[in-house]
Amino acid sequence: EVAVLRLAHRPGRDDRMTTHVGLTARALGADRVVYPDNADQSRQTVADITGRFGGPFEVELTDSPAATVRHWDGVVVHLTMYGERVQDVETEIREARADAPLLVVVGSEKVPFDVYEHADYNVAVTNQPHSEVAGLAVFLDRLFGGRELDREWEDADRRVVPKETGKRVVPTDEPATDERAE
Ligand code: SAM
Repeated sequence: EVAVLRLAHRPGRDDRMTTHVGLTARALGADRVVYPDNADQSRQTVADITGRFGGPFEVELTDSPAATVRHWDGVVVHLTMYGERVQDVETEIREARADAPLLVVVGSEKVPFDVYEHADYNVAVTNQPHSEVAGLAVFLDRLFGGRELDREWEDADRRVVPKETGKRVVPTDEPATDERAE
């Protein structure tokens, strides 16, 4: 299992980023996202998207993200610009995750120091400041070696037909014929 934890949420300021952490976790192969309990709006949006575009993917709230980190029975990866370079530790993390659930932690505001201490790996996607959404995307792609891009979705009520130009979204019960001829 791969779960993503959003460590904190500032209502208003973080609304889109918190939602995007969940959407990115879902799209790029994680099994679930855990939000602080003041992020119910983001939980709802991610659940709606999962309902429409498929899963499986779970969204949960917790009243204590810190406790989720502390009590995680498995491997904890904390994404931070101050950490070890992802390209140096990705193989070890892939091996560790074969035997244990993996929690990927991303911050919003300043991350308390005990998260750095509790993490099995503090991992940097470059040692430059950027975004939790970007860091998560690159980390998950490295973790899954690109295989997440080929994922099939279950229980979707619609799917996008890839097109060179324009947009096509079809109900999933429509047969997938003639897509190449579009
Ligand atoms: N200034 C805050 C601090 O010092 O803890 C972090 C703010 S940053 C906008 C929000 C989150 O983005 C971080 O907690 C981290 O999870 C992620 N992040 C930013 N840059 C990163 C990088 N180079 N590698 C991995 N994660 C990164």
